[in-house]
Amino acid sequence: MTNEAAPRGAELSVIIPVLNEAENVAPLLGRLVPILERCVGSYEVIFVDDGSTDGTLAAIAHAHGADPAIGVVSLSRNFGKEVAIAAGLDHASGAASVILDADLQHPPEMIETFVARWREGYKNIYGQRLDRSADSALRRALTQRFYRLFGSFGDTRLPEGAGDFRLLDAQAVAALRALRERARFNKGLYAWIGFRSLGVPFDVAERHTGASKFSYRKLTRFALDGLMSFSTLPLLVWTWIGTVISMISMCTAIYFVVETLVFGADVPGFASLIVSITFLAGVQLLSLGVLGEYIGRIFAEVKGRPLYIVESRIGCAEPLARPMLGIVAPCVPADPRA
Ligand code: UDP
Ligand code: MG
Repeated sequence: MTNEAAPRGAELSVIIPVLNEAENVAPLLGRLVPILERCVGSYEVIFVDDGSTDGTLAAIAHAHGADPAIGVVSLSRNFGKEVAIAAGLDHASGAASVILDADLQHPPEMIETFVARWREGYKNIYGQRLDRSADSALRRALTQRFYRLFGSFGDTRLPEGAGDFRLLDAQAVAALRALRERARFNKGLYAWIGFRSLGVPFDVAERHTGASKFSYRKLTRFALDGLMSFSTLPLLVWTWIGTVISMISMCTAIYFVVETLVFGADVPGFASLIVSITFLAGVQLLSLGVLGEYIGRIFAEVKGRPLYIVESRIGCAEPLARPMLGIVAPCVPADPRA
């Protein structure tokens, strides 16, 4: 079956964020397109070029020449994978959308299973990565620590091993489009929107070519975004720490008053004074730092800048909604009586 239809209104949209993946574009499409032709009536492939500096855009433009259902939304700079996915979701017009990495770590063959589950009525079907051996030991350990932390103080429960590789029904896509937060943690957002969800286990392959685009610095920033946009516990914990420290200092004060009344004034105590002052200064600076992290994020949100800026599009129509202005199509039909 060929995909003659114009991309807008395809049955399935495939969103692929790309940053310097020129060598992966052709091998990926070589595996992806036959699967799409087999399992859906019509498709569109939306690459989101997240500020690539290599030949990625040219490779996609070349693929578009051969198959007009392949398009690209090119962002004006690197906005990060989370935002690139948001841009892809804004441009997707399919009855369902699949999000896929470009490096072939997410096997495109899984899409057949995703589509079958979607036709059974599931709206949020995620690839469940149970084996993380493709990651380094340090990254695996840190990831595990992060999920444990998120589970103990995040307000949203993350399904184990769930990532961006998933199929979302158009209704779930509309719900995600309405979430315009800048400090984005998509994994949390997919869980937050709800809908009938299902995990499908899969084995993560090795990267086809190139290296991961996530440095440990980027991953730390990302983990903080995740924790802070889904929990206020880091703010509240200082109330408890403050209470405990105040109680200890109250008890110490009473002890010293009694000691002075009974044994008279005693000058020594310099060391304990210095220790308590530096300890309290440290605690206060730490709590200020946590406040600062939240204030920085609030500042980024209130500035109300668009999530991303599109520089060019090939084979992709501008979305009907106006996400750049924060105006999105309502998810529910308007009340006819209104
Ligand atoms: N990516 C992106 N913008 C970024 C970083 C990554 O669009 O700032 C894309 C990248 O090209 C790939 C996908 O996101 O298609 C996953 O990236 P990567 O393989 O580097 O991440 P990992 O597999 O190490 O989590
Ligand atoms: Mg990868």
